[in-house]
Amino acid sequence: MKIVSSLSELRTARLSLKGTVGLVPTMGYLHEGHLSLIRQAKVDCEHVIVTIFVNPTQFGPNEDFSNYPRDIEHDLKLINPLGVDLVWNPAPEIMYPPGYQTWVEVEALTRPLEGALRPGHFRGVTTVVAKLFNATQPDKAYFGQKDAQQAAVIRQMTRDLNFPIEIVVCPTVREADGLALSSRNKYLEGDDRKAATILFRALSAAKDIYEAGERNAEKLRRKMKEVLESEPRAQMQYVSCADYDTLEELAVINGKALLSMAVFFGKTRLIDNFVIG
Ligand code: AMP
Repeated sequence: MKIVSSLSELRTARLSLKGTVGLVPTMGYLHEGHLSLIRQAKVDCEHVIVTIFVNPTQFGPNEDFSNYPRDIEHDLKLINPLGVDLVWNPAPEIMYPPGYQTWVEVEALTRPLEGALRPGHFRGVTTVVAKLFNATQPDKAYFGQKDAQQAAVIRQMTRDLNFPIEIVVCPTVREADGLALSSRNKYLEGDDRKAATILFRALSAAKDIYEAGERNAEKLRRKMKEVLESEPRAQMQYVSCADYDTLEELAVINGKALLSMAVFFGKTRLIDNFVIG
């Protein structure tokens, strides 16, 4: 496993990889969710590149960029047994040198949900992912369903900019009690860790009434709200029942839909989602 940081080292190492290449972009502090993407890339591709970069441009001014957990040594230990060819861990000034001024923006898909509450977030995500795609030239790139809107936005960008890359979206990996794995779970203190299972329970309750025949989207949103409100430690930011493709809020569910939510536990913000239909 080769570990590189500069762009020239990356290019040299990339040139030596013959055959199909799978890219797994991450912000590090790896967990089983990230490893599941790497394992899938290993199954599908002859070579795998993992990038570890905490991208400053996708964090808002009041978000947790400086506090985002980092542990590159531990990350490399986790990746080591998986048969990854190349790890790229660029410094911020490699991605954004002084005078940097080029941005990639996806329009309608980034307006609702996370985009509405985190202005500029997806502009940072699509810009960095486009740069990672250009630098690593993969055949396939792997993303998690955990960040459903991010996966949709990247699929759109890939299509719009004619990147010859297949976007593969892998299922959300969860703890035994349903909590979706996230690097930010580390910040759930004391009782908040147990309380955080409320996201999974709220999504499950809405899915249950959908499976029992309910098609009124507002009733599903109300059900998720009701369950979240039963947990005093949870501060709901939004719940949504949206069209799977456009991410616009639905009145009636008559196809594939995305149930999603963002919830604070103290300063820790968690998101989760289920696909129904
Ligand atoms: P991050 O390091 O948080 O930017 O995540 C890197 C990639 O891992 C993204 O495509 C995420 O959607 C994916 N990911 C994060 N958590 C999970 C999870 N619990 N299950 C599956 N994929 C995940």
